[in-house]
Amino acid sequence: MMKVYGGIEAGGTKFVCAVGRGPGSIENEIEFSTTTPDETIGHAVRFFRDQPAPITALGIGAFGPVDPDPGTPTYGTITSTPKPGWQDVDIRGRLASALGVPVGFDTDVNAAALGEHRWGAAQDVETFVYLTVGTGIGGGAMVQGRLLHGLVHPEMGHFHVPHDLEVDSFEGACPFHGDCLEGLAAGPAIEERWGEPGEELPEGHLAWPLEAHYLALGLMAVVCVLSPKRIILGGGVMRRRHLFPMIRAELQDLLAGYIQAEALTERMERFVVPPALGDRAGVLGAIALAERVALEG
Ligand code: ZN
Repeated sequence: MMKVYGGIEAGGTKFVCAVGRGPGSIENEIEFSTTTPDETIGHAVRFFRDQPAPITALGIGAFGPVDPDPGTPTYGTITSTPKPGWQDVDIRGRLASALGVPVGFDTDVNAAALGEHRWGAAQDVETFVYLTVGTGIGGGAMVQGRLLHGLVHPEMGHFHVPHDLEVDSFEGACPFHGDCLEGLAAGPAIEERWGEPGEELPEGHLAWPLEAHYLALGLMAVVCVLSPKRIILGGGVMRRRHLFPMIRAELQDLLAGYIQAEALTERMERFVVPPALGDRAGVLGAIALAERVALEG
């Protein structure tokens, strides 16, 4: 019998659980709201136990912050999240002991990056970034084939970008830093600044050149720090596809020809791209995490 893997995209709003081997072979899938840890994790455990064929391994891409370091006692724990009830919840450990299979664990954005590497827009590169722009801004990175962790894990939405209060008097929406990149450019910032959610603003709205400007400043930092071969931009805000050419043009202007790479000068449309797996990157990436942990033994 062919092996099947389980994957969980564990978001702060909803959990998506799937069983299968990849994009063309999802055998079963369920989606439910993230409530209390007991109820939510219990729901996931029942889903996987009820499958006709038992899963060989499980992958979890989790909202965070998390502890992604297998060498620590708190590995697989959601740490300092503001989400009530979820602080210090050992999501990986609970699922591993309930299901009795190896469990691969990472951040939601690293999982999405892995999914895009395995089946999507980053199959041909080993060093790239997946950035999500939605209710928050977060980034996952693969560096020479390995998902990047370090002290903890990257937080690509929480650095400051130049913010001219005369051009944009909105003070920023991040509870920790005010006008960090996430505070200026994530979905809630767009809605607070303009009084309407981004999905309702027309393409010609002033919101978009400003949004492209902030995101391009963010990407400039990512390009200069990590030197990725591609940047995939996912998340709800990036469903507004007209942002892509605006961001590419602005990024090219900001870099000012300093970094000599064809990807940045002549092939920018292949450098900043949408996810090929669309909204499926997260859950498919979790399946790819399961596949990895199963192969590693
Ligand atoms: Zn912040």
